[in-house]
Amino acid sequence: MSLIVKKFGGSSVANKERIFNVARIIVDDYKKGNEVITVVSAQGDTTDDLIEKAREINDGNISKREMDMLLTAGEQISVSLLAIAIEKLGCPVISLLGWQAGFNTDSNHGIARIKNINTERIRSELAKKNIVIVAGFQGINKYDDLTTLGRGGSDTSAVAIAAALHANRCQIYTDVDGVYTADPRKVKGAKKMSEITYDEMLELATLGAQVLNNRSVEMAKKYSVELEVLSSLENKEGTIVRENIEMEKMLIRGVTSDKNVTTISVIGLKDLPGIAFKLFNKLAQFKVNVDMILQSIGRDGTKDISFTVPRDQAQIAIESINSLKPIIKYESITSDDSVSKISVVGAGMESHPGVAAKMFESLYDADINIRMITTSEIRISVLIDESKTDKAVQVVHDAFLG
Ligand code: ADP
Ligand code: ASP
Ligand code: MG
Repeated sequence: MSLIVKKFGGSSVANKERIFNVARIIVDDYKKGNEVITVVSAQGDTTDDLIEKAREINDGNISKREMDMLLTAGEQISVSLLAIAIEKLGCPVISLLGWQAGFNTDSNHGIARIKNINTERIRSELAKKNIVIVAGFQGINKYDDLTTLGRGGSDTSAVAIAAALHANRCQIYTDVDGVYTADPRKVKGAKKMSEITYDEMLELATLGAQVLNNRSVEMAKKYSVELEVLSSLENKEGTIVRENIEMEKMLIRGVTSDKNVTTISVIGLKDLPGIAFKLFNKLAQFKVNVDMILQSIGRDGTKDISFTVPRDQAQIAIESINSLKPIIKYESITSDDSVSKISVVGAGMESHPGVAAKMFESLYDADINIRMITTSEIRISVLIDESKTDKAVQVVHDAFLG
């Protein structure tokens, strides 16, 4: 007997047929004598639709607590419908919301972190031979308020349960049959990987490969939970995410794009020591996540500093710099949303010079201008015009993996 944690994303439970499809996958494993816990996301575009509904009522500042109250409803619908389908198939089942399943989180509404899982209830339901269906993406804080874990957070819910219960397997079912070298829906010639390391998957996920939520990968690595990403619609092998893989170290593992980027430029700063420190120190105090940074060469005693932030932090970034006005002088601040970030990821590039040159050449050949660049040991990212995103991913992918 194995303990198996499965997670099904929104498209996998989008309608009646899909719900029964998922119910059958679960029941199959249960009938083989396994203990099965399943985490589900809200159906289809439910979460987006709920956000839209709230925006119709208030397009200004909505309190994050109320937003969480609203969004957790999406998963309540899908867990109950799935449990009803499993009942119909004749197996014992119980659905649990995040708080019932013991998900205790901090109070950071909208992007809460799991503090611990009290597994008592889940264990007692398993002991009663129930199939357990858990609402993903949600928990409860110490004030008994509902919280959510951030978009795509059901992946993290699944990994957290697998870690807490030392499950034998954690299977993430989705609408593609594994992790590819680029988004298979957008890039011609994207190839499925049979295995990938946590570190490479973490980079891909953080840089825009939506197939796994980056926090879930972080947690899987921390607790050595082996993940399998596979299709809920086709019965075939997926991609395994683990610490060490047998495949040769590939030069480039994948190419990603991320449109959740805004460039902020601070123009006409004094070209003096300490200016960058004061600027970025203030941004850090306001908890702004700065990614790429570009500083112009000083001219006539002034310089410009540009940097990128996630789009929803652009406003707070500008406010935090404005609050520096009495301390540092500058001419103006501008922000630009029409950008995106293209990245290549691969542990092999550490020992191979020329990866950056090859990436830049492929963009040059496609007449795509690079605005900013950042690198780490296993990734190179460039900022480009948003309108050229798909083209850029395709040409960079062709250059390395075509
Ligand atoms: P779910 O609802 O199951 O959580 P998501 O939409 O969050 O599904 O993630 C699956 C999607 O991720 C796929 O439909 C695919 O278009 C996209 N995707 C982006 N990059 C990749 C990649 N490198 N490999 C596989 N899928 C990717
Ligand atoms: N329903 C949530 C979302 O759309 C959580 C998830 O899908 O994992 O972000
Ligand atoms: Mg997802």
